[in-house]
Amino acid sequence: MTYPDRERLAALHHAEVERFRAARPESGRLWRAASEVMPEGVPMLWMAKWPGPWPVHVDSAAGAHFTCADGIDHVDLCLGDTGAMVGHAPEASVRAIADRLARGSTFMLPTADAAVAARLLAERFGVPSWQFTLSATDANRHVLRYARLVTGRRMIVVIDHCYHGTVDEAYATLDADGRTVPRRGNIGPPVDPAQTTIVVPFNDVPAMEAALAGGEVAAVLLEPAMTNVGIVLPDAGWHEGVRRACDATGTLLVIDETHTLCAGPGGMTARDGLEPDAVVVGKTIAGGIPAGAWGMTAAFAERVRAGLDPEGEGLEDIDVGGVGGTLAGNAVSMAGIRATLESVLTAEVYPGMIERAIEWTAGVQAAIDEFSVPWQVTRLGCRGEYSFRPTPPRDGREAAAADDFELQQFLHLHALNRGILLTPFHNMALMSPATTSADVERHTVAFRDAVASLFG
Ligand code: PMP
Repeated sequence: MTYPDRERLAALHHAEVERFRAARPESGRLWRAASEVMPEGVPMLWMAKWPGPWPVHVDSAAGAHFTCADGIDHVDLCLGDTGAMVGHAPEASVRAIADRLARGSTFMLPTADAAVAARLLAERFGVPSWQFTLSATDANRHVLRYARLVTGRRMIVVIDHCYHGTVDEAYATLDADGRTVPRRGNIGPPVDPAQTTIVVPFNDVPAMEAALAGGEVAAVLLEPAMTNVGIVLPDAGWHEGVRRACDATGTLLVIDETHTLCAGPGGMTARDGLEPDAVVVGKTIAGGIPAGAWGMTAAFAERVRAGLDPEGEGLEDIDVGGVGGTLAGNAVSMAGIRATLESVLTAEVYPGMIERAIEWTAGVQAAIDEFSVPWQVTRLGCRGEYSFRPTPPRDGREAAAADDFELQQFLHLHALNRGILLTPFHNMALMSPATTSADVERHTVAFRDAVASLFG
């Protein structure tokens, strides 16, 4: 991609780097000290992928804002890539979590909160039978194992350019000839993903039908709209087509709502009347502490029960079967989910969150229009995203082709220098119940300024 002018972009970027350096000495000092004991000075290596010479270190956060180690206030439109979609430190969640923590946190025994949390999720997503983990990754991993158990099939279908966490089967993509190949950057895979996975483009019902036709696929795992390669919305008929193809071939359908919980209190499953065999959620559901969950239909849950105990001898091997985690379902996670769903991420807060996203999208669109830039902006519930192409992408390949790392790094750094955190790795903004119109306006002004400096 040649536009915008690369020399101009490089000069603008350089100026933003200098501005960052001057404003953030304390983050720099912390990072240099941290680099002695952690690779790249961060507790998880992907945290080094932010724009700027070193990562911003957070001091404290509340609602839609955080303050960094240098005392700068930020509007947080990243919100922990959905981990903090409920806003930072929501009062009811913090109270319940702190109270539970003070009364003991992990027992290998259930607490009363667990069934309440499960019932709240069942009501929202319409599937009755729930299990809990510490992450959405683990929920995906475990539900895929259950799907293999009950179908006796080996293969999984995922969508081209999907992301479901660090799930081995999902680290596959399509090459130029339509073959399943390992995704770029796949670290130490246990097996070639082509042995476990068939990859299908989003919105391609015939490809899905073809993938399932052989009857060797245990489950289709998909997001109801793609959110990790930019937003890709489903075409009319896509979800019906997937469900039909699954039914025709005895394949289970797992819908990962971890990010699409932005669309409504029951994700797109409830909003659009989807009919999955299993639903996965995670990230924000416990108000900021680790928790994931998956829910199953009664029929799927019954098949799992029968599969785990074929001789009727009890659940002898359940502790070492590959589905588990010592701290999974711990008392603090359960208290966090209960409080967050009961009192924070309620149906009542969604209209306001969605309204903020409409405002954000309008602000981005206004700058695109003013400077006639060939970009587009898409919204899904309280999530918005722009990409460097003129029309909304229809599948992951189209979305990925619009990527422009240099341009993206500049826009993110420009925003950061004006006290706005965007989601790294793409151009996404998320609204919490605490996000205000003034917060959105800060982005609208900065975005116009960035676009003007590039194209004005
Ligand atoms: N599912 C989806 C759709 C995701 O986007 C992610 C992470 N971005 C996950 C699952 C995994 O979440 P976690 O990293 O918290 O396990």
